[in-house]
Amino acid sequence: MCLAVAVFYNVTVKTWDVIVIGGGIIGLSLSIALHKRGLHVLVVERGEPGREASYAAAGMLADCPLEMPAALQTLAAASARMYPEFVHELQDESGMNLDLRDQGTLLLTAPEHFLGRTEFVTEHKLLAPLAEVEPALAPTEASVFYLKERSVDPRALVAAALKAAKHRGIDISSGTTVTDFIFSSGRVAGVITDKTKYPAPCVVNCAGAWSGTFSINRLPTRPVKGQMLAVASAQHNLVRHVIRTPDVYLVPRTNGRILIGSTLEEAGFDKRTDASTIQRLHQAAIRLVPALKEALMLEAWAGLRPGTADDLPILGATTTPGYFVATGHFRDGILLTPVTAHVMAQVITGAPPGHDIANFSLLRFQT
Ligand SMILES: Cc1cc2nc3c(=O)[nH]c(=O)nc-3n(C[C@H](O)[C@H](O)[C@H](O)COP(=O)(O)OP(=O)(O)OC[C@H]3O[C@@H](n4cnc5c(N)ncnc54)[C@H](O)[C@@H]3O)c2cc1C
Repeated sequence: MCLAVAVFYNVTVKTWDVIVIGGGIIGLSLSIALHKRGLHVLVVERGEPGREASYAAAGMLADCPLEMPAALQTLAAASARMYPEFVHELQDESGMNLDLRDQGTLLLTAPEHFLGRTEFVTEHKLLAPLAEVEPALAPTEASVFYLKERSVDPRALVAAALKAAKHRGIDISSGTTVTDFIFSSGRVAGVITDKTKYPAPCVVNCAGAWSGTFSINRLPTRPVKGQMLAVASAQHNLVRHVIRTPDVYLVPRTNGRILIGSTLEEAGFDKRTDASTIQRLHQAAIRLVPALKEALMLEAWAGLRPGTADDLPILGATTTPGYFVATGHFRDGILLTPVTAHVMAQVITGAPPGHDIANFSLLRFQT
């Protein structure tokens, strides 16, 4: 259990039970979950909160068992179930609309992808002709399946989480880089930043793709770059579903924006976009939905997913007392946010996590 310590700022005494490193969607949502359990939390963010991977994401809440490691499926499905309530609460607290859509996903892929998966084929069979379900799609030879997945607007989500956190009185130190940890009697006792020191009995590493940059328990995370673009169609509801193919995916928003993604690149911490890659994604999207040729190009960007060697997140306590990690969410961090916030808040407060997180322990990389 984390017990608060006092910090003296002139005459004001400020105390925190937990310091969260990183103000992305994972860090902000966890800070809210901890605050709900009565803890005082400080989020330390190097830049502006919510402007890294969480801002770059497409927002698919994709828990399709064919597309994620088997070990993650149960946790992912649990998080997907938590989403409506999670969004409802954040919308209430922030007054923002997070564009949670439940039109579902059309998965277009080669039939051989499903060999031996007859139960999947039966369960996710398209029940109406494709031309009725998604009229703008070009005719296709691919097998098409319907997945009952939702999508959300990650930029709105992270902005709402920031607003809700501030509203609750969670402290946020923006523009402050954590450079090291404070230790006392063999346990973590706070963080050292480029500006000052912040003591606290518990520290959680939610630094996304940068989680492995601290010397403590050196985390085996790496950045995996993803480039994307957004277009706007004058045609209302041109694309209704999320559409995923092996080459490209489309994620429509209710305001007419259509996101087109994405690449998976091992490019270190380079976040630059590359014109030919963006062009390739754009052309793949136009082949899928020819009317996108007329759509207005809005912006292109790149973000860094927090990857791990086995594509699974790292969640829970570490061998260093007082030090916790919630990172490595790779392609599914938006989806996994509600369940991550819940299990981590439980673990940090000494309660049962409520889900089996043994597969996600940092220990799997240390033995
Ligand atoms: C192109 C793209 C598309 C994606 N699409 C989806 C999707 O459709 N669905 C889905 O579920 N997921 C998706 N993801 C993955 C998802 O975005 C991430 O898994 C998730 O955002 C990770 O959240 P995070 O809070 O851990 O990381 P981040 O949002 O990157 O936050 C980490 C924060 O830590 C801060 N930080 C780093 N180092 C320090 C330090 N030393 N001191 C203080 N602060 C520090 C950073 O500045 C940053 O703000 C996508 C990712 C990308 C890039």
